[in-house]
Amino acid sequence: MTGRLDEKLTRLLGTRSGAALEKMGLVTADDLLRHYPRRYAEPGQLTDMAQLALGEHVSVLARVAEATVRPMRNRQGALLQVVVTDGRGRLSLTFFARHPGALRGHEAKLVPGRTGVFSGTVSAYRGERQLTHPDYVLVGGDVEDADAAVDEASKPMPIYPATAAVPTWRLQRAVRTVLDPLTEDDVPDPVPAEVRASAGLPTRLEALRAVHAPATAAEWRAGQHRLRFEEAFVLQAALAQRRAAAAQEDATARPPRPAEDPGLLARFDASLPFTLTAGQRAVGDEVARDLARPRPMQRLLQGDVGSGKTVVALRAMLQVVDAGGQAALLAPTEVLAAQHARTLRTLLGPLAEGGLLGGAEDGTRVALLTGSLPAAARKQALLQAASGEAGIVVGTHALLSEHVQFADLGLVVVDEQHRFGVEQRDALRAKGRVAPHLLVMTATPIPRTVAMTVFGDLEVSSLTEVPAQRAGISTHVVPADNPRWMERTWQRVREEVDAGHRAYVVCPRIHPDEEQGAGPAAGKVKAAEFDDEVPEFLDGDAEERAPLRAVLEVAEELRATPALAGLEVGVLHGQMPPGEKDAAMAAFSAGASQVLVSTTVIEVGVDVPEATVMVVFDADRFGLSQLHQLRGRVGRGSAPGLCLLVSTAQPGTPAAARVEALAETTDGFRLAQLDLELRNEGDVLGAAQSGRTSSLRLLRVVKDADLIEQARRAALPLVEADPGLSDHPLLAAAIAAQLDPEKEEFLERA
Ligand code: ADP
Ligand code: MG
Repeated sequence: MTGRLDEKLTRLLGTRSGAALEKMGLVTADDLLRHYPRRYAEPGQLTDMAQLALGEHVSVLARVAEATVRPMRNRQGALLQVVVTDGRGRLSLTFFARHPGALRGHEAKLVPGRTGVFSGTVSAYRGERQLTHPDYVLVGGDVEDADAAVDEASKPMPIYPATAAVPTWRLQRAVRTVLDPLTEDDVPDPVPAEVRASAGLPTRLEALRAVHAPATAAEWRAGQHRLRFEEAFVLQAALAQRRAAAAQEDATARPPRPAEDPGLLARFDASLPFTLTAGQRAVGDEVARDLARPRPMQRLLQGDVGSGKTVVALRAMLQVVDAGGQAALLAPTEVLAAQHARTLRTLLGPLAEGGLLGGAEDGTRVALLTGSLPAAARKQALLQAASGEAGIVVGTHALLSEHVQFADLGLVVVDEQHRFGVEQRDALRAKGRVAPHLLVMTATPIPRTVAMTVFGDLEVSSLTEVPAQRAGISTHVVPADNPRWMERTWQRVREEVDAGHRAYVVCPRIHPDEEQGAGPAAGKVKAAEFDDEVPEFLDGDAEERAPLRAVLEVAEELRATPALAGLEVGVLHGQMPPGEKDAAMAAFSAGASQVLVSTTVIEVGVDVPEATVMVVFDADRFGLSQLHQLRGRVGRGSAPGLCLLVSTAQPGTPAAARVEALAETTDGFRLAQLDLELRNEGDVLGAAQSGRTSSLRLLRVVKDADLIEQARRAALPLVEADPGLSDHPLLAAAIAAQLDPEKEEFLERA
């Protein structure tokens, strides 16, 4: 379907404006209209010209004192400078254009002596307060009298996510140029009329008008509400379709062995050195029942760091092996895959030495298959997977996309869901003759509505207790600019190492001279940086923040730190060759190095029980959930853990609030909730959805829980009655538009 919304902006707005918008990823009219205002300036009252604060959006009633057009000093173009006064203060208004002719309209109106209301954001130029491209309404020109001018100027002003090349006022004009001529027929509405009627919602066009050109605050709020509903509704309809499709699929049933004919699972249970927690049992039973059905299991297992998910997963894998199938365990990194393979082999003991001297007779094998294996080892692992000799194959996601053959793949377990979204689940389903069962494990606790939004097609199980009495962990914030505290930090590390323990030191970057963060942490840290909404006038040059600390630099410093003299300082980051990574991890594991300086590659799953301290540099730049994950790496043994968050955040900022929250609680669910509240939800959701930009622009998964439920209730009956949505082609098209780019991205990466 093509219509006016598909038209290119270069055509609608001219090549120059269009090209500038294209650089922001806005290509079509539709893209531009979905570029929603980030917030609204509500001028409301006039500002006293004597109190113009930098960065504030103001409206002033004033008289034009002088107006001059002159060429720009350093670059091509012309400048109209107008000085207005209210009799007490003076304020400059500046208008730029490439050609003086383009300024003529303003020049003709803004003649000395005219009075009007001028609105814009206050900035400073050479010490003088000014408004750049202000909006204005002139008395006796645009409106009759001063009251009317004030009234007109008090409409909420949309403020757009802007760039230096395309400032918000230019976006606002572009939007209006595109939006104003549209009619209802031009704007297809994926929310059917009957749903709109029963929910009391305006049409899509009405909503677009309300958010882009509101007359009142109530108007843009109503518009936003309607667009949020639409996002939730399209998503819930898509998920309902997926569930319906999955319920039709075949899988091989893998029932547990009967008691009189016990298999590996029973022998494993008997050999466990601890008793399963009640939660592990309950979830284990749910999983066992799912596996026994001829429909593919689609289950998300969430449990805080250390809640014992691995054992649950291993028991599921053994049930499948007992039933003659194979299981694959996918980890997000090669380091973690290698560690998982070691952990599983240790837990299984002789049960993992099938066919080997001294191994259990009916035992199986755990194969590790990663891209960096030497050719011979790789060939052997491939063979073990293809022949079925290995009941369990551990690797990264590449296991699914490479030409890895399984004799009979019955179960896929994914550790850490971050990069395993809807698309990957599709790829997986396409892998075998029949779909394997799927268990996705996550330690990032997901609030209910997020689970419903991102994983709406999965069943959810939760492990809520942490087994074995852990010694606990205490967390403190260390101000980076306090040398005494920093010194004490390294003394604490020394004390721990002297007591036989080990320390992690985490930095957001690898090289000190790289662009801010090209390492594995880059995306996340970048996202965190944008949390503290930088006021627009600060864009670019302002607010100097110290550069992020880097692994290589910090490692050098620590080797020269007197408190750490004589200690071995190891290094681990994502750009090291896989062999070196393994060696660094192994050295730390074995105690050959006692301090490990690394990026967030250790974020998930790494298990070194002797590690008791973690120092995180630039902690204020990380998301809360990520810090919680990191912190979960220490205090895993019997000795208490200590986490020191080195922060450069100014008191009172959201970044400071994040690190303080972490110091106060160890409850992962509470932190996940807080995280969502404190930071840009798009980031959180984006990360959960395989790192791409979220298709949800306005929907807030925590605050809009009720709206999501409402949309779900509206979408379900519609899909049940008409799974192909043939009666609702506009909804079907919206779903397709939402899912397509994801698929492409996944294929590119694979
Ligand atoms: P996570 O959920 O973070 O993946 P793990 O599965 O790695 O947690 O478990 C953390 C530690 O707790 C491991 O050393 C594991 O062997 C141990 N563990 C798991 N279940 C129990 C239990 N029921 N009792 C005691 N220790 C357990
Ligand atoms: Mg784990």
